[in-house]
Amino acid sequence: ENTQQKELIDLHEQSVKLYNHILTNTKMGQPALDYLHKRGVTDDTIAIYQLGYAPAQRLLKPFFDERKVDFQLLRKSGLFSEDQDGHLRDRFVDRVMYPIRNGSGQTIAFSGRLLSTDSDMPKYLNSPETEIFNKRKVLFNLDLARPNIRSKDPAILFEGFMDVITAYQAGIKSGIASMGTSLTEQQIYDIKRITHEVVISYDGDTPGQKAIKRAIDSFNEQKSNLEMKIITVPDGMDPDEFIRKKGADNFKQLIDHAQAPIEFELSYLKKQYNLDSEVDQSNYIAEALKLISHVDSSISRDLYLNRLADEFSVDKQLLQQQLAPLIAQPA
Ligand code: ATP
Ligand code: MN
Ligand code: MN
Ligand code: MN
Repeated sequence: ENTQQKELIDLHEQSVKLYNHILTNTKMGQPALDYLHKRGVTDDTIAIYQLGYAPAQRLLKPFFDERKVDFQLLRKSGLFSEDQDGHLRDRFVDRVMYPIRNGSGQTIAFSGRLLSTDSDMPKYLNSPETEIFNKRKVLFNLDLARPNIRSKDPAILFEGFMDVITAYQAGIKSGIASMGTSLTEQQIYDIKRITHEVVISYDGDTPGQKAIKRAIDSFNEQKSNLEMKIITVPDGMDPDEFIRKKGADNFKQLIDHAQAPIEFELSYLKKQYNLDSEVDQSNYIAEALKLISHVDSSISRDLYLNRLADEFSVDKQLLQQQLAPLIAQPA
């Protein structure tokens, strides 16, 4: 961490305080505070996550100018956008502000959410990449979740940071999330360093299910010895909505009944086919056998074969014959 990085982090820490002050102590912040309360976010949670509000008026630029902060440093901070004449303007305007912390708990970026999604502007706006922020390297909440992950709970990987925050508020404190990108090598590496078990808990909608499939593939590509489990949140809800509607205990039930990746992959695969058609049936069976061939335990493979044979009333021995050559021989 060099001097400039320290200075950039310091700018962020000052901005966190300012945005939080606007949210919690000013009339300007009231609509944003109402928004958060309506979402069920408590004042405790606002304090823990140091949530804030970037008002419609300019805030950071005059604040830092008054304190004679170097223009070039401000430029590099990502907190401002630059107009054609080279003037800096607050990047975040009229947004609820979520500080993004690194693994050591230092704030290195922000994500700002619109109070309403009626406008055609993006719902979330993130800081750009800077000398201190690379979104592909960040796992949201890692600093707070790490001690819990280590001591008792598996890491719970969410899709959005609001899911992480709602879960934390409900007492599920081992949640982390990537910053709206699919999972990167670096993030998988960081998860592997602290745990042997991860529960993937993405949104229950179609994009969420696709993202689960991608995440399973990424974990598999890195040949991690990580045990994966998969939650499918019902009715297209995301974990944040589910916890607020059904409560933390029901979410813990989902965690307790999380599926093995093969189970998720088989049911995900099945949805890609029209199983009324016999052509599709046999294509599904061929693809399912490929998935089953990757299951390590021969007993588990046998159980899945039984299931497949029953489901389509096909001869198990036939399935076994097809499976055998697919099974990777140990080197
Ligand atoms: P909310 O409940 O506040 O509407 P969410 O947490 O359900 O939001 P999703 O829409 O499910 O968010 O998106 C998941 C994640 O993807 C977000 O946490 C955010 O990091 C990222 N994301 C979503 N929309 C955008 C966007 N327009 N620009 C950048 N990132 C986004
Ligand atoms: Mn989503
Ligand atoms: Mn949501
Ligand atoms: Mn969501």
